[in-house]
Formats: sequence, C-alpha cells, structure tokens
Amino acid sequence: MKHFSHTQGETFRRCPRSWWLRYGKGIVERKPDYLIEGSILHKAIQRYHEHLRQTGNDSDLSAVEGVTRQAFFDYAHELGPDSLVDLQQVVWTYADSHEFHPDTWAGIEWRMERALGDGLPPFLGVLDLVTLDEAGAVTIVDFKSSRVIRAADERPAQSAQLQAYAWLVMGAYPQAEVGVQLDFIRHRWRTERQVISREEAEAAGRDLVAHCKLVAELEQQAAQADKPERLFTRLQGPACAGCTVRWACLRERHFPKTLRPDTPEQVQRLARKTIALEALVKDYKAALKALVEEQGPVDVDGTRWDNWQTLRPVADVEEFAAACEREGLPFPWRAVQFDSYALKRRWFEGQGYAPLYDAIAQDKPSRPRFDHRPIPEEASGDAGEGQEQAQA
Ligand code: SF4
Repeated sequence: MKHFSHTQGETFRRCPRSWWLRYGKGIVERKPDYLIEGSILHKAIQRYHEHLRQTGNDSDLSAVEGVTRQAFFDYAHELGPDSLVDLQQVVWTYADSHEFHPDTWAGIEWRMERALGDGLPPFLGVLDLVTLDEAGAVTIVDFKSSRVIRAADERPAQSAQLQAYAWLVMGAYPQAEVGVQLDFIRHRWRTERQVISREEAEAAGRDLVAHCKLVAELEQQAAQADKPERLFTRLQGPACAGCTVRWACLRERHFPKTLRPDTPEQVQRLARKTIALEALVKDYKAALKALVEEQGPVDVDGTRWDNWQTLRPVADVEEFAAACEREGLPFPWRAVQFDSYALKRRWFEGQGYAPLYDAIAQDKPSRPRFDHRPIPEEASGDAGEGQEQAQA
C-alpha cells in the first residue's frame, strides 16, 4: 500500500474481500456509468479552471464544449456518445453559475498527503476544490454530480470523508479555520459552509490511523500467506449489488451461487452433502461397471465407459533410456514397469539371477481402471447391441 485513502477505508469497511481484490490484487473495477460520468465531470471542471487560470478570465462559457469533449474522450470507450451532450450541459451549468477567483482558489482536484506515522503509508486525499479567504479561513468544496439532491438539509460537517479531509488540510494550514461545503453542480446549489472543529478533525485522524493499521497488518500477513484471500472476509449483502469488482469475486469462487458457504454451519452442510454425493456416485459407478462387464462398453454423449488400460507399453526400453539421456532428462525409473515374463524367463533366469528378481518383484498385476474417456475414433460404432440397450 503506497498510500491510504478514504475510498480504500470505506471499501474495506463495506467488504474486506472487495478491498483485497481492488487494492491487493489490483483487479480493474467495472464502474457503473454514473461513476464514470462523475469522473468525467470532475476532470472537465478541472480543465475548465486551468483554462481560466491561463487566460486570466473569471468565466468563459465558450470553453465548455472543448474541455468536456477532452475529458469525455479519456473515457470514450466506456460511455456512448449520447452522454457527451448531457455532460456538456452539466459543465455549462457549472460554468454559468461559478466565477473563478485566482486570489482565493487554493487548488482544484488537489492531491494532498499527510503522514499517519507508525510506519504506515501516508493518507492521500484528492480535494475537489479548496478556497482560502482573506481572513485565512479554508473551505473544502465537495462537488456532487448526482441527478438528485439527497436532502435540502445536507450536513457536510458530518461526512466522514470531509472530516478526514479537514484533518488533512489542518496539517498544511495548522492555524486556519476549516469549513466544508457540498456543491451540487447539476443544480446550481451549494449547502451552507459548516466549520469542522479541531477536535472533530483530530478524531477523524485517529480513526484513519487505526483503520489504516488494521488494513496494513492484514496486507503484511497476506504477503506471507499461501492463500491470502482467506484473510479478507467476504461481507455479502446489499454492498454486492453495487460492487465494482463483483465479477472477479464471483470468478474467484469457482462454484455456483447456490454453493457459497460462508458460515461454519453452511460449510459443514456442504461437506455432508459432498460425502453423500460421493457415496451415491460410487453406487452409480458400481452399477454401471457391472453393466459394462456384462454387456460391453457404454457410449454416451461422445464418451465411453469401459475398463481402460492405464499402462502404456514402451516398445524399446533401451531406446527410451537413450532418448531421455539425449534430452537431458532422468530416466523415470519409478514410473516404468517391466514385462515380468520377459525379465524372469528370458533375462534373469537365463543368466542365473532369478532369486535377485524374486527379492524385488511385486506380485501385483496391473488392473484396468473403470472410467469414461472420449470414444476412440477407430472404436466408434463398435459398441454392439448390449451398449444400445444400456443407453436406452
Ligand atoms: S461481490 Fe460482495 S462479497 Fe464479493 S467482493 Fe463484492 S461486496 Fe464483497
């Protein structure tokens, strides 16, 4: 973890596994359209302000189309072209209702860091807009691009994110009074500025340290673990519906929705069910094997049930050994079996070494394995009448 952010902390709180997939394994998120639109709007507004700063204007509606288009094409593969018109309208609304004041605007999309101490990575925040008035009071403005205003009595000072950002800003401006505001950019509406006290900000800072410590410790353990994902619990629930790494989480499970044991009881139920199914499969295979022995192989859906030989004779052992040597491979002694008749009668006995062979030989005939395999081409259509009856 190079840094810790409010988003990381919230992701971990909602579901540790989601944190692991996003930040531990680096899985790329699949963001819903409204989140992509939000990113484009933030970027377009940032470009708009850069344009005003360069041209020295306090407003320039003619720049809206260009800056939005530039920001949009950074994500063009994600959104359809219809969205561009809507986004331009939002940026136009913003530009029409805000004036740029270079003397008071301290930063836009401002990346600020503050050390968390204890060997932890620093806390990083990207602040939408920060202003500094003549009296030295700082205001953190958080842009909201949602289509609805959630409530007219929004209380930004109670937002955990803005409290954390206030703590961040107090690190850079220790003497300043820090206030926060929400700006609903689609609606030309801002909340009142609310002050965050030093105590509230310090409490947010302590919360960040504790939270980051927890995540960093788990991350360290994960680096040593064989199965690191097990350290990060899946908190299934409403969060799954909007989870941006849900696809990776599902794929990681490797089993269908009905078999997702999370509680110890569910795991035991799955274990019992597996034992019962194994017993059932054993019975089925025994019945099928008896049928095959009685009336020949059974072909079904392109595979054949039969007693398959698992041994593959090597025609020339000497040549096989020479080939191994040529390739620089050790001769696979333990995987090779010899024709006992040839060894005993024609080789050891003839040369007087039969007792030596008896001492190491295993009287263990190889058994064919009852299994199903793809039907060999030369054998298809060979299965005979008995098989057809068995299939019926
Ligand atoms: S799909 Fe649900 S359980 Fe899986 S990572 Fe996302 S929130 Fe967690």
